[in-house]
Amino acid sequence: MTRDRILPQEDEEDLVQLPTNNFVQEMRHILEKKQGLEIMRVPKKVQVSCCQHTLAIVDIQKLIKSRNVERITCNRCIEPVVSLCCHCTQCNYFVHLTCAQLPEELQHPSHEKHKLKLAFVSYVWGMIKCSACNLDYNGYLFKCDTCRLYTFDHDVKCALLPSTIDHKAHEHSLVQMYRGNGNRCNSCGNVVRSFLYACEPCGFYLDYECALLPESVNHRWDKYALPLSFPPFSDRPDEFYCEICKEEIHPRRWHYHCRECDQSFHPRCIPGLGVTRNCNFGRILEFGRHPHPLKLVCDGEYRSTCDSCHERMYGNRVFKCETCQFYICIKYVARVANSGKIAGPAKISE
Ligand SMILES: [Zn+2]
Ligand SMILES: [Zn+2]
Ligand SMILES: [Zn+2]
Ligand SMILES: [Zn+2]
Ligand SMILES: [Zn+2]
Ligand SMILES: [Zn+2]
Ligand SMILES: [Zn+2]
Ligand SMILES: [Zn+2]
Repeated sequence: MTRDRILPQEDEEDLVQLPTNNFVQEMRHILEKKQGLEIMRVPKKVQVSCCQHTLAIVDIQKLIKSRNVERITCNRCIEPVVSLCCHCTQCNYFVHLTCAQLPEELQHPSHEKHKLKLAFVSYVWGMIKCSACNLDYNGYLFKCDTCRLYTFDHDVKCALLPSTIDHKAHEHSLVQMYRGNGNRCNSCGNVVRSFLYACEPCGFYLDYECALLPESVNHRWDKYALPLSFPPFSDRPDEFYCEICKEEIHPRRWHYHCRECDQSFHPRCIPGLGVTRNCNFGRILEFGRHPHPLKLVCDGEYRSTCDSCHERMYGNRVFKCETCQFYICIKYVARVANSGKIAGPAKISE
């Protein structure tokens, strides 16, 4: 029997403090305190399953500057890399020092029958929906090999979240639950469809997607870091509008707000925080029906359509051939892969 909720254990109290801009640090605490692992600050030698190469330890800030990119994400947890990390130069693969030392197996209280196994999302279309936060994901996950259902596909961040957390938005500790009873998330207002944290006496509920919103975001439209704002809001105007979608922000909902510039943003409207925030783009798919490698991109260009099912690609995740501007949608790749009718090999690389 799966329990719907579990009570906090004393040693886990105050373990994770949210929101944070460095969740990987919280992951390290959890691995050390809860899983009893010893996480080396700088591992001597790192080998990951992507390749036979030994990974080098690099300073990411230098690399970000020299490559002139906005950020580099970890291939395992899809969180940004901010300091030292492991890098495979041949495969252009990045992994946090902590993520390189994830355990192969994890006992999760929501699924006590079997241990969850660490795995790469190897479906050819390269995406799963995390069963805890419901977001699309293409990093490493913990999944149950025995049950073979998608019900226990947890991205590494969600899988490691403990039974109790503290969140600045609420004065009491929040307890993990595996499903809401029609409760609405205090942050986004949506009915919680999967995992959540709750303070039931106060009627405070927070889905995983909102629980893991970062403490602040940098946005190119605003020179200040925008903090995550939650009620009670002090000296705020009666109405405010999202700078990106121009729609009104519900007076009780969490949002990012810059006091200096008086600018507000829905979390989901901020690039990098939307429904694809846990997806790494740029992955390569070798799809037997096309002679060139296809690259996973965030958005089909305006007016582009999938060459196979003719669906419009605008705003979708799509595989693209940069040589011949050929597009193929994720849904089509998934359908073909599931039907077993792939002509030639289809392979996604980490
Ligand atoms: Zn990572
Ligand atoms: Zn390699
Ligand atoms: Zn998740
Ligand atoms: Zn199982
Ligand atoms: Zn929410
Ligand atoms: Zn409370
Ligand atoms: Zn908006
Ligand atoms: Zn091509």
